Amino acid sequence: MKLGIIRCMQTEDFCPGTRDFHTIRHKSGVFEGLDEDITLVGFCNCGGCPGKKAVLRAKKLVERGADTIAFASCIQLGTPIGYACPFAKKMKETIAANIGPDIRLLDYTHERG
Ligand code: SF4
Repeated sequence: MKLGIIRCMQTEDFCPGTRDFHTIRHKSGVFEGLDEDITLVGFCNCGGCPGKKAVLRAKKLVERGADTIAFASCIQLGTPIGYACPFAKKMKETIAANIGPDIRLLDYTHERG
């Protein structure tokens, strides 16, 4: 899997992404049971509210080789502060429409906490 991760810009002050990297290294969370190696091709934020720039960033990740884009758990699960993104649904729909059906989209990286 060639993986790109998009995270919440508002959450960066609370989290340097440590849990995401741990999750990838140990193939836990959403990667549990994955039968292939994971190569991280990029890790960026959404570009800030209301998430419109996330489309450009997703396209850039695909240009750099990503076949899968994961939304970090901060976006839809609201980790680590319990505040999910109010724009997540629209952001995902817009990204999906712009990068096409061949790119896998994952709704989170690791479970809460
Ligand atoms: S659009 Fe959502 S994911 Fe992006 S900074 Fe705002 S709250 Fe975070």
